[in-house]
Amino acid sequence: MPELPEVETIARDLRGLVEGARIVAASSNWPRTLRSHEEAAFVAAIAGREIDGVGRRGKQLLLRLSAAPADPYPAVLTIHLKMTGQLFVVSAGTPQDRHVHVVLSLADGRELRFRDIRKFGRMGLYRRDPISGLPVEGEAAGVLATGAEPLADDFTAERFAGLLANRRGRLKTLLMNQDFLAGVGNIYADEALWRARLHPLREARTLRPDDAQRLHAALRDVLAEAVARRGSSVDDYTAPEGDGSMQEHLQVYQRAGEPCDRCGRPIRRIVVGGRSTHFCSWCQRLPRQQRDGVALPPHAHSARPARRGPRWTELSGEGAIGRTADEEERARRVVATRRAAASRRAAARAGETA
Ligand SMILES: [Zn+2]
Repeated sequence: MPELPEVETIARDLRGLVEGARIVAASSNWPRTLRSHEEAAFVAAIAGREIDGVGRRGKQLLLRLSAAPADPYPAVLTIHLKMTGQLFVVSAGTPQDRHVHVVLSLADGRELRFRDIRKFGRMGLYRRDPISGLPVEGEAAGVLATGAEPLADDFTAERFAGLLANRRGRLKTLLMNQDFLAGVGNIYADEALWRARLHPLREARTLRPDDAQRLHAALRDVLAEAVARRGSSVDDYTAPEGDGSMQEHLQVYQRAGEPCDRCGRPIRRIVVGGRSTHFCSWCQRLPRQQRDGVALPPHAHSARPARRGPRWTELSGEGAIGRTADEEERARRVVATRRAAASRRAAARAGETA
């Protein structure tokens, strides 16, 4: 799923492409994509509005729209891409495949198309607070993340330490909680924890001040680097102006069995809260009191038994060299999946930009 750097890249691309454009018509062929309106009401509510700006909150895009002839309120269109959502800006005559579920027609003859193979993506249209740029109070309850923005100027190390203080739960799970931090998902949680040398199962409340400071710096560094590289194009993520390259610079994500860039020992993979988690068991240690004798609580692993991974203590030893058979098999699958995703993205771009 696109995370902060990927969504930020899309927002920046869109800013150059559609800021100032006027929406004259809209259509949708998958009712669930529109979370706030039925199709006819959505079309009536969005037509005539100008796109004043493009922003981001957590993993969602925010298109700031002007007031409409029939509505004196400015509006905001929220777009959550979820697993496979893609946005393209093309001329209206460009051929369109069956995965395009929402089309916004612009006055200049172009279209902003929302393409979504798995159809988990969601769009919402709300009245906008002219000061904050966000949906007005009570309009979009539960739609936007409430957590801190890790790249914001006011997200200081002191503020992060304050947020962490007395937080229950394990670092991996906490970093991905959108009401704690907005925009961090599986990829950048793993990468930040590796950079900060912190074990993903470490309990947040056991962090010392220097641990919290390292994690703060690691989060901001990896996210800023990923924004500069236009995000990680690992699955269906691509931006209107093309793929990112951060996937070539990830140090642990989907690299189980490969040598750690710091110590040379193999990266390991476990499942935490139902999500694949990649780390170096040599560089990222649990503190003694958490390591010895304390059984991991059941919530450290998936609630869904099908995705239960090995406990970290069951891995083939800190000194194990090379890939385990399972890692060998998984690595083959990752390569195949990445190759398939890359050709899927290329086909989508070719189809949408021809
Ligand atoms: Zn290492």
